[in-house]
Amino acid sequence: MYKSIDTECVQSGYAPANGEPRVLPIIQSTTFAYDTPEEMGALFDLKKEGFFYTRISNPTSDGLEKKLTALEGGSGAMTTASGMSATALAIFNLAAAGDNFISVSTIYGGTYNLFNITLRRLGIDCRFVSNDTPAEQIEKLVDDRTRAIFIETIANPAGVIADFGKFAAIAEKYGIVLICDNTIATPVLCRPFEWGANVVVHSSTKYLDGHATSVGGIIVDGGNFAYKGNPRYPLFNAPDESYHGLVFADAGKSAFILRVRTVINRDFGAVMSPMNAFLTNLGCETLHLRMQRHSENALKLAIAMKKHPAVEWVKYASLEGDADYGRANKYLKDGLAAGMVSFGIKGGREAAAKFQKELRLFRIVTHIADARSCVLHPASTTHRQLSDADLAAAGVPVNLIRLSVGLEGIEDVLQDVIGALDASQK
Ligand SMILES: *Cc1c(COP(=O)(O)O)cnc(C)c1O
Repeated sequence: MYKSIDTECVQSGYAPANGEPRVLPIIQSTTFAYDTPEEMGALFDLKKEGFFYTRISNPTSDGLEKKLTALEGGSGAMTTASGMSATALAIFNLAAAGDNFISVSTIYGGTYNLFNITLRRLGIDCRFVSNDTPAEQIEKLVDDRTRAIFIETIANPAGVIADFGKFAAIAEKYGIVLICDNTIATPVLCRPFEWGANVVVHSSTKYLDGHATSVGGIIVDGGNFAYKGNPRYPLFNAPDESYHGLVFADAGKSAFILRVRTVINRDFGAVMSPMNAFLTNLGCETLHLRMQRHSENALKLAIAMKKHPAVEWVKYASLEGDADYGRANKYLKDGLAAGMVSFGIKGGREAAAKFQKELRLFRIVTHIADARSCVLHPASTTHRQLSDADLAAAGVPVNLIRLSVGLEGIEDVLQDVIGALDASQK
């Protein structure tokens, strides 16, 4: 609607009528009152828009959903309890036991577990490929029960940039829904629908909130996939017995988001609280400014680190010469690659521990993507049960340290990290 995404960040979503609160209000109510049973009935029949129960929708969440719809350029959105639930519900909306989908393996660790363990237990088979697997090989994994292809714009923590061109072409050729986890890029740096994605999922816990206050997620519908008559999507084309015979494909542009809200999350109930929707919406109002600054700080730090003798390697897609540099410049706005930088420290576990103890600004946390800089050493925390060999196989070498560069002044960021690198070798 606006020319600039900066304006969408600030203004989109909630628009007060005359005399209403200027700021998106927190409607902390589970339920909504009506004068007649007929009015409430019309809401249940989807004949009228409105709120009746916060598990289905809520005015505060609705404001955030409308903002993300505008930011991503989609047709509708649904907030969820977390990023994990956004991904799980998106898959459940397309696939049932006996179905399968294809995913890149360089994805968020929690998503990898969901796909590799939990969904398999439920009979949904994930076929992993790498971002670099040739198209012909990926196509061999497609059969008539393949329901989705899953990619991550900027992989956490691998830092790999999704090969949108390749995956979108396969999805289009076979009429398969392309789902993209856009958490780390955010719509400010990449709008996956413009590169062929059909569904976007987010952990809003990260940059959208941006201040580490609220776990949450959101699913955005691109409104750009034809479910009607596509034999891959019986769930959309057969009358839904749990929704008095509705054929969701008939809903056209909002088929995906309508079904995930009124069937899947009606049954799973993984909803975002109004309070978290309020805080996340507030975060989104400054997202454009923050993504710029996170990215600029991260690039300056990555350049300085690359020259440091205690650093074996740095992975950051906007670094010239990086394996993902070309894709970063093609798919990310101005080649900006957000605030997550990984590097390998010389001296293994011992140096990694020294480095972290020396840091003052960067605190040790299991998080990324908030205003405050932070650090995580997977081998001694999230991946500590793995042997050195298992770590290497998982693409998380024992000396890998993940930094999330915050919004502080770059002088302080540099001093903290370079000082700790110096000390790590003593
Ligand atoms: C954190 C994260 C998730 C999971 O989100 P939660 O809000 O923690 O459930 C999914 N994808 C990516 C890329 C993430 O960074």
